[in-house]
Amino acid sequence: MPEQWTVCPAEAMKADGLRVAELDTSGTPGFTGGKKAGVALLAERSKVLSDLQEKLYANGRSGDRRSVLLVLQGMDTAGKGGIVRHVIGSVDPQGVDHAAFGVPTQEEQRHHYLWRIREALPRAGQLGVFDRSHYEDVLVVRVHNLVPPTVWEPRYDEINAFERELVDEGITLVKVAMFVSLDEQKRRLAERLERADKFWKFNPADIDERAYWPAYQEAYQAMLDRTSTEYAPWHVVPADRKWFSRLAVTELLIAALERLELDWPLPTFDVEQQKRRLAQA
Ligand code: ADP
Repeated sequence: MPEQWTVCPAEAMKADGLRVAELDTSGTPGFTGGKKAGVALLAERSKVLSDLQEKLYANGRSGDRRSVLLVLQGMDTAGKGGIVRHVIGSVDPQGVDHAAFGVPTQEEQRHHYLWRIREALPRAGQLGVFDRSHYEDVLVVRVHNLVPPTVWEPRYDEINAFERELVDEGITLVKVAMFVSLDEQKRRLAERLERADKFWKFNPADIDERAYWPAYQEAYQAMLDRTSTEYAPWHVVPADRKWFSRLAVTELLIAALERLELDWPLPTFDVEQQKRRLAQA
């Protein structure tokens, strides 16, 4: 772990006992450097991530069933897209299974809410990324009463059981909840209205959602309290500083991949014999 991290990122950003309403969204927990050091370190650590991901992919091609799944949750403008572009964008796209979850389609509505999630799980050796996830079914759904409490309430336990199943199948879950402040969100939305290259990101409904901020905070708190398990813990990443959230997620992924203790797969052929054959070919 690089020395600018005084506490390992997984520990510094663990959700246990954390109060969402009291979180310093401009903080850099566990990291002592500033922006310059953070950006420099991110460039370095992206290479480490990329090498580890290549090993995961290589092992997947050689029969290893394991995979890693990054689950990203966060309010509008929290920077989930930036994580996908800048963190996941630094690894080989062949090894990435990306899925974004929006308002359920008609077909999705005909199924159980976990159906579309199961369909999108990463294949062996892949780095999966969920931009939003099954957690929307206890977040937006809860905040807007899209179904009654008797329906969303049992989902926390159901999600825990589902994730237990995934972990047992060899999927390492890296769950990241990103938080910006209400002010920072306003600034980012304003920017989307100022710049031609950002108009496409603006959704007028995002302004309406701001009125539900306290209800979202409550829903996020319940999510962290009830679905951060020992086998699939939540990490809370302050996201007012984009360089920090990107560095933090990079580190969390590196740590998860390192725990898999991956080696390069051994050849299934006799290397010397193949060298001799090639020399004569
Ligand atoms: P983003 O806002 O992440 O760029 P979209 O514009 O596709 O992506 O918005 C996704 C929207 O879909 C969000 O408002 C989110 O709350 C909503 N959504 C996701 N899952 C569900 C769900 N299960 N039920 C209702 N709404 C959902």
